[in-house]
Amino acid sequence: MPELPEVETVRRGLAPVMEGARFDKVEARRPDLRRPFPKNFVKRLEGESVIGLGRRAKYLLADLTSGDVLLMHLGMSGSFRVADEKRERMPGKFHHERSADKAHDHVVFHMSSGARIIFNDPRRFGLMLLVPRAGLAEHPLMREVGPEPLGNAFDAAMLAKACARKNTSLKAALSDQKVVAGLGNIYVCEALHRARLSPKRNARTLATRSGDPAPRAVALVSAIKDVLNEAVKAGGSSLRDHRRTDGELGDFQHNFRVYDREGEPCPTPGCNGTIRRIVQNGRSTFFCPVCQK
Ligand SMILES: [Zn+2]
Repeated sequence: MPELPEVETVRRGLAPVMEGARFDKVEARRPDLRRPFPKNFVKRLEGESVIGLGRRAKYLLADLTSGDVLLMHLGMSGSFRVADEKRERMPGKFHHERSADKAHDHVVFHMSSGARIIFNDPRRFGLMLLVPRAGLAEHPLMREVGPEPLGNAFDAAMLAKACARKNTSLKAALSDQKVVAGLGNIYVCEALHRARLSPKRNARTLATRSGDPAPRAVALVSAIKDVLNEAVKAGGSSLRDHRRTDGELGDFQHNFRVYDREGEPCPTPGCNGTIRRIVQNGRSTFFCPVCQK
């Protein structure tokens, strides 16, 4: 499942060919992805232009001249390719290989910018919906989404308040999209390591008894922002299996500090710990039991 940095890099890759451009022709090659396409999906897009391409949590939001918002989600295996007469590119970078098998090209946008934008999704957990702009905040997929971790509003006080009455682990609390939007297994592990907090620690301990943010909440918020900003800057993440834009599988070095590094020495300066893997809520957690308390 792509996390926030991957989706943000996809947004940045698509924005130059979508913003200000018109949908000249739209192909929906099947009736559904995870859900059916909206009624008159093609008709409601063709002839309309994209005013802006935004992101909320892991959703891409294209504001249209019609007043609708085209809401897109990559699901587990979805990806976009951008093609013109000369070449094809895949915007964004991912931890897992993305398919370019044309049998899974389910949606094609022919834009007035000259670009074809192709949505490929072998497992079809992706999503495309049209929602009136005025109703977006109250849409069932949007209304429970928590604060954007890179937004100014997300700070220690907000995180401590969201966790003050939670009787769950920090790992579970940070994975909860209502507490903070867009984090998944990888970046939760990375942020907790950077903040030197154990993933098993009770989330309530981010708040003091009076409900104020504890110093560890300040450290954690700053670690979350740093980890995400660095990942976006690096192009989504450091990838193990990244298909280069020319379609070749590229080599790269990944620089996760703990994720998928079971048995390796802890990278915290001065720490002699070894990265351990445990399972929490059915997902692997990687952490250092020595410096993460
Ligand atoms: Zn350590």
